[in-house]
Amino acid sequence: MRLDKFLSNENIGSRKAVGTLVRSGAVAVNGQAVRKSDIQIDPEKDEITVNGKPVRYSAFVYIMLYKPSGVLTATRDSRAETVLDLLPPELKRRDLFPAGRLDKDTTGLLVLTNDGEYAHRMLAPKSHVWKRYRATLDLPAEESDIARFAAGIKSGENEFAPAVLEISKDDPHIAWTEIREGKFHQVKRMFSACGKTVTALHRESIGALTLDPTLTPGEAKILDPNAAALVF
Ligand code: URA
Repeated sequence: MRLDKFLSNENIGSRKAVGTLVRSGAVAVNGQAVRKSDIQIDPEKDEITVNGKPVRYSAFVYIMLYKPSGVLTATRDSRAETVLDLLPPELKRRDLFPAGRLDKDTTGLLVLTNDGEYAHRMLAPKSHVWKRYRATLDLPAEESDIARFAAGIKSGENEFAPAVLEISKDDPHIAWTEIREGKFHQVKRMFSACGKTVTALHRESIGALTLDPTLTPGEAKILDPNAAALVF
């Protein structure tokens, strides 16, 4: 792995900031100061220090992405842009995948990781991880919808566990829902069972992990493992 990629993966700074740091002589590989950030290192064997402090290799990475509309939640697709295509080079790794999925037109919080157990725990129904969405509707949400969501929706083939619904006081076309399942098109189907079409859907949080308000659509940032664990 390139030294600058390793350092930015470990959250030392952007690829550019890391380049400056290396040129300043602050970085050493196996005790030897280096001045070039494009050299290859073995992150599992080489000891890398910044100002004398070791930088440990984290085998697992967690990335918060602000998914924009129009991008597929997939690792690769021959035609369409995927969420992995959005990552800047310093965050790209071959083993990353999205933990869960958002529809192509859904925006908001998505976690990318290479930690299969983490993703499995986040998605397992028994983990009861609550996901919060802001939905924009074609028709105003009604008080009776709150009770329907709370009771769990059963409509035709569809059966959804009890969910929270909160209607905006300023505009009833806006509603927040919290669900703990992750069925295909779930939020859209729950509103559809109440006679409303979701015209825009945005995920604000997963568990206690909230989309960083400083991120703009398409932007990503590294999460430290403690932050990533907020989803549970
Ligand atoms: N529910 C949906 O309908 N779509 C999503 O993308 C996520 C939850």
